[in-house]
Amino acid sequence: MKYISTRGDQTERRFCEILLEGLAPDGGLYLPVSYPKIDDATLIRWRGVAYADLAFEILSLYIDDIPAEDLRAITRRTYTAEVFGTPAITPLKSLGSDLYLQALSNGPTLAFKDMAMQLLGQLFEYELGRRGETLNILGATSGDTGSAAEYAMRGKAGVSVFMLSPHGRMSPFQQAQMFSLQDANIHNIAIEGVFDDCQDIVKAVSNDLEFKRQYKIGTVNSINWARLLAQVVYYFAGYFQATRSNEEQVSFTVPSGNFGNVCAGHVARMMGLPVAQLVVATNENDVLDEFFRSGVYRVRGSAETHETSSPSMDISKASNFERFVFDLLGRDGARVKQMFGAGLAEQGRFQLNAEQFAAIQGYGFVSGSSRHADRLATIRQAYKDYGLIIDTHTADGLKVALQNLQPGLPMLVLETALPAKFAATIVEAIGVEPARPAGLEAIEALPKRVTVMPVDVAAVKAFVQAHV
Ligand SMILES: *Cc1c(COP(=O)(O)O)cnc(C)c1O
Repeated sequence: MKYISTRGDQTERRFCEILLEGLAPDGGLYLPVSYPKIDDATLIRWRGVAYADLAFEILSLYIDDIPAEDLRAITRRTYTAEVFGTPAITPLKSLGSDLYLQALSNGPTLAFKDMAMQLLGQLFEYELGRRGETLNILGATSGDTGSAAEYAMRGKAGVSVFMLSPHGRMSPFQQAQMFSLQDANIHNIAIEGVFDDCQDIVKAVSNDLEFKRQYKIGTVNSINWARLLAQVVYYFAGYFQATRSNEEQVSFTVPSGNFGNVCAGHVARMMGLPVAQLVVATNENDVLDEFFRSGVYRVRGSAETHETSSPSMDISKASNFERFVFDLLGRDGARVKQMFGAGLAEQGRFQLNAEQFAAIQGYGFVSGSSRHADRLATIRQAYKDYGLIIDTHTADGLKVALQNLQPGLPMLVLETALPAKFAATIVEAIGVEPARPAGLEAIEALPKRVTVMPVDVAAVKAFVQAHV
């Protein structure tokens, strides 16, 4: 399988080249030249295959520059019951007839980011070792990506992590998770701004090709194709658990911010997984909901980005969204380049024409949004009706899922974090402190390792130079 950019550069790249790279040189995102189509026989064969081996089957369709036995060893090292809590890895919890939560957050940092990041840690160590190279990962996080990356890369040979986060905006638990790591290859940088400022700094540094090359800068943000690919696997795993035969369809509801998670659902659907609807659930930062309702994509600035009780979705420029638009526009890279390059830079928005907007339906996308009061009500309802404590992001998903149920069609809501990560809102909703997994009880009291900095690209570059 070869990969091309969403912005028209047709240079074909192989998986292990783009694995360590992030953005394409023309500023676009990498996508496979085409999506492999899964035939009925394959889908039948995959049903009942263990998660790690299902991951191998799917990954091997997209990766032809790692020998099969090595790739299988990597997926088996990654997706273990020890790391993810259960042999099913992403088990379903039933919420009555045809409604499920798919548990994606039983990894080390209690959020779904571990699903992809743990694989990335293994892939990076493998590929860097094979090449005899090192890599400095520069990332931006609103909370969950950063900790997942750090826990995946800590102690890994050849890799350092420089992780930018918005100063004071993550939950105390999230801050403690990241800043308490004392590993020499992990560097936390708190930026005095919002998540999008952090993301802009990462993009600015990555666009400085000279600096990027000299300091071997890589990324693990959700634009990384390998992460997206890892996430495709659990859509298949969820489907197999919720259905008895491949004649059946299901829908997924996905709490969304950067559009990485639901974009993996889009890829699974393009491969032929019988998915009826992909329901995009946002919080108050509803740029994606606005798009799917109106065809207008209008990014917001920092001042318009709300700080919410589902903070990992406080995103107003969805970095993976360009991948879907590329498919929607018939893979017209020149058009995408105009819309996401000059168009967004000059106008901060673009609008689909009527024909393009109508085409969205064919991709199964619908959307909805949720507010703080909805979140609280949904957490209460889940506790009362199902005896389950759900986290705030999952609550946004469940709220929107309930509005999109169709009789006889299973709906899988992706559980993107555990409630312990966002305890204050859970207490506000139901007056109960969510349980923490063993070993994390006193994490806030641990010593912290973090450097605070202004929104300044040069300062971040200087820090990296001083610490590689
Ligand atoms: C990252 C994250 C999301 C949003 O996922 P995207 O891939 O950015 O759309 C939702 N919920 C939680 C808990 C997250 O960590």
